[in-house]
Amino acid sequence: MPVRVVVLGAGFGGLELTTALSEEFGKDIQVVLIDKGAEFIFGFSKLDVMFGRQVPDTVRHPYRDLLKPGVRFVQTTVRSIDPVARQTVTDAGTFDADILVVALGADLDPAATPGLTEGGHEFYTVAGAFALREVLPTFESGPAIVGVCGKSFKCPPAPSETALLLHDFLTDRGRRKASSISLVMPFGTPIPPSPDTSQAILKAFAERGITFVKDQLVKSLDPVRKVAVLGDGAEMPYALFLGIPVHRVPQVVVDSGLAAHAHDWVPVNKQTLATKFPGVYAIGDVNGVGTPKAGVFAEGSAKIVAAAIVAQIKNGTPPEPYKGQGSCYVEFGHNQVGRVDVDFLSGPKPTGTFQEPSAALVAEKARFGQSRIARWFGR
Ligand SMILES: Cc1cc2nc3c(=O)[nH]c(=O)nc-3n(C[C@H](O)[C@H](O)[C@H](O)COP(=O)(O)OP(=O)(O)OC[C@H]3O[C@@H](n4cnc5c(N)ncnc54)[C@H](O)[C@@H]3O)c2cc1C
Repeated sequence: MPVRVVVLGAGFGGLELTTALSEEFGKDIQVVLIDKGAEFIFGFSKLDVMFGRQVPDTVRHPYRDLLKPGVRFVQTTVRSIDPVARQTVTDAGTFDADILVVALGADLDPAATPGLTEGGHEFYTVAGAFALREVLPTFESGPAIVGVCGKSFKCPPAPSETALLLHDFLTDRGRRKASSISLVMPFGTPIPPSPDTSQAILKAFAERGITFVKDQLVKSLDPVRKVAVLGDGAEMPYALFLGIPVHRVPQVVVDSGLAAHAHDWVPVNKQTLATKFPGVYAIGDVNGVGTPKAGVFAEGSAKIVAAAIVAQIKNGTPPEPYKGQGSCYVEFGHNQVGRVDVDFLSGPKPTGTFQEPSAALVAEKARFGQSRIARWFGR
């Protein structure tokens, strides 16, 4: 009997894991990949669509195109997970696994910030980002705030990128002089593990007149008075609020016992991504391994787990410990992209090295996306 691997979530992590197993075993493995959605969309494509750089249809990658030997994609919602029995109940039936990989990402909870849904916008969900494509061109003047509402959030550079891209967007439309841009972040610098990247971003903010409000979260919005209330009680007036909602562990994962509560990411062995349940792994944003919540780290953790599964099936040598390394591209606006290479787990503390923004890195980022789509969807 081929080994049965069930992968919950076809995001960055699930797609990479599934591809690696299919490459290794072809039809000699039974992988079921489950996702409630019909298509994959890169996180960075949300910014492209919202700022009018791409149309929605060009950034959708339908799972129906995923034809890999040994892999069956099932579009359905996961309703419960039993990590002891390695059994998953979905709207399309029950799936039993020899090896279960949870890659369900981080859920977003805009309702956790009072006033956000009524009085502001968020750009972290696909629906929120795509809706902003119609809203941003109607913004004429006044204070714009990009505000982080919870401590743990996907893609730490994304709020800074949004402030820089908003600057370009308003400049191109002749609205920049009539507006101000502020960024509210819970860190002291934009990218704490990389002082060089932080310095470059802060310099870009200073050149463009963007205000960086450090060490603060947006706790609530008052839609009537049009003010954002920060953690220390300070109030900031806004005409446009672009929020990064509170992130949480998906409820189905909490209910399974894999995580203790909504803000306790699934504990895993830092070197292997194994949970405390034998034969159950958690990869990507859903785990609490200590790397940022970003696609490149989800992909890196998928590679380690794929190698561990290969070693287990073939009685081979287990992979080297997970190092938590990844390269993030950072949109600087002015048609330039920078890059930060970070290493979270190799040394005593995280380190990062920075590559200055350039047009060459714009092309490299495009190739990064294209290569993943070609690899995962076989195109
Ligand atoms: C604005 C923005 C910009 C970003 N830019 C970058 C970037 O430039 N580089 C980068 O590396 N990362 C970036 N990211 C972060 C990146 O998108 C995520 O970190 C990455 O997708 C995480 O991968 P994952 O596999 O852990 O989870 P996800 O990709 O989120 O996948 C989880 C999957 O699980 C599915 N799912 C959830 N619950 C259920 C359920 N109950 N039943 C069935 N299916 C379910 C979801 O539909 C989803 O497809 C960005 C994110 C945002 C929001």
